[in-house]
Amino acid sequence: MSAEAAQTDTFDLVILGAGTGGYSAAFRAAQLGLSVALVDRDRIGGTCLHRGCIPTKAMLESADLLDRIGRAGAYGVSVEGGATGDPAAIAERRTQIVERLHKGLLSLVRKHKVSYIRGRGRLEGATTIRVATIDDQDQPSGERLLRSRDTILATGSRVKSLPGLVPDGKRIVTSDDVLRSADLPGSVAVIGAGAVGLEFASYYRDLGADVTILEYLPAVAPLEDADVSKELEKALARRGIRIVTSARFDPAAVRVDDSGVHILVGPDGQEPSELVVERLLVAAGRAANTEDVGLETTKAVVERTIVKVDAHMQTAEPHLYAIGDVIGGLWLAHVAAHEGICAVHHIAGAESEPVDYLRMPRATYSRPQVASIGRTQAECERDGIPFKVGRVPFQAIAKALIAGEHEGFAKVIAHAETDEILGVHMIGGHVTELIAEASASMLFEATALDVGAAVHPHPTLSEILGEAAMNVHGRSINF
Ligand SMILES: Cc1cc2nc3c(=O)[nH]c(=O)nc-3n(C[C@H](O)[C@H](O)[C@H](O)COP(=O)(O)OP(=O)(O)OC[C@H]3O[C@@H](n4cnc5c(N)ncnc54)[C@H](O)[C@@H]3O)c2cc1C
Repeated sequence: MSAEAAQTDTFDLVILGAGTGGYSAAFRAAQLGLSVALVDRDRIGGTCLHRGCIPTKAMLESADLLDRIGRAGAYGVSVEGGATGDPAAIAERRTQIVERLHKGLLSLVRKHKVSYIRGRGRLEGATTIRVATIDDQDQPSGERLLRSRDTILATGSRVKSLPGLVPDGKRIVTSDDVLRSADLPGSVAVIGAGAVGLEFASYYRDLGADVTILEYLPAVAPLEDADVSKELEKALARRGIRIVTSARFDPAAVRVDDSGVHILVGPDGQEPSELVVERLLVAAGRAANTEDVGLETTKAVVERTIVKVDAHMQTAEPHLYAIGDVIGGLWLAHVAAHEGICAVHHIAGAESEPVDYLRMPRATYSRPQVASIGRTQAECERDGIPFKVGRVPFQAIAKALIAGEHEGFAKVIAHAETDEILGVHMIGGHVTELIAEASASMLFEATALDVGAAVHPHPTLSEILGEAAMNVHGRSINF
């Protein structure tokens, strides 16, 4: 269809990509009175809702329940015949949760009067997007030209593999493949011990699979504080997960035959041995969706597939913003949402606080869970920041014993002179919930003494943060 024949519409703001970043930006812009079009080739919700955060956490919740039932005897509860996981039923529940949240997003689109346009979009300059529209039956249905005062690029990311290793969706799989299927392999090797790899490894192990984690770097959860990484490695090993850190193998030499997937792997400097597994899950990172979206028709700077933005998410084109996974960084849903809101505030002339990446919580939903915010100890040392550390184990927290989840600890790092909280690092049960308090504390520039002075109800797991903060000053009561 020619440019002239395409239907042309004009909005204050057009957002390309309706993942967490895109839809959060759209709803906030509508609240601020802007007319908004939100474009996606797929269903609203993006990676997080359909292929990421939500389906994985639904599966992990089932795995967690299975684990607890398996330990029911320790709580004085007998479960006749034990418990087994049913991968098909787990997948069904996962789908129901995703569908329910998807419906919720559609109703929010209506509530905010956002124009949701299904189709593949391409920038033609900073403020025009040509959309090849798609109908409800997923068929091409025409073309629309959307013009706007401002545009936000929020096209997210996709799975990526290693050079020479081509996922076939059956034996060599990505997170997308796992989340499309319901089957359970007897043995799995997971490449990558970041959040995604660790979560799947944890899930598969709970469901009874033999699991091996292969991590190129010398530690699991390599971006976390070293104390947390070490504790996590021990905890996963106790669960029977085999871990190879500093793992070296040639991805292009991975071989698949009737007996399984063959990987010649060994720790750096050692003779490799053959690992044969039913399934190889590649969780080696994500690639930003920045090709084929028309960025070359703009002045936006793209470096190694990542769009460069300033503190307000503005690209080198004043009316083109970029948010979420396309700008790299933490690659997290709540970060994408905050970036979206930051961009919209700047566009609408509302008060706009730059996104503070040091105050972005990070969470891994393996068992045990890991959650953190701010600087690690190594980062403080590297940057020459004087610091003090408080650390308290869950063993010292009554509720952790009551809950039967007393692995792990909380570590608070505070500035040695000002006492301001620099970082909080936690490992253990429910720490992905507990980290929110650290996030609020850091937002208000709280000191360790402030956090310790806040009253935590007894007995709760939340007490651990207060205790660890007071431990910075040698004043924890229960440890
Ligand atoms: C397995 C897994 C688990 C995860 N778990 C968590 C978690 O627990 N917590 C967390 O914070 N983060 C998690 N993440 C990361 C999180 O999903 C992403 O950081 C987040 O989705 C990024 O949001 P986004 O809006 O930038 O992009 P996306 O969510 O990727 O959305 C981009 C959208 O753009 C659309 N699009 C792309 N190109 C075009 C085009 N040309 N035209 C039209 N539409 C287009 C896509 O269809 C997609 O809907 C997880 C990721 C994975 C893979």
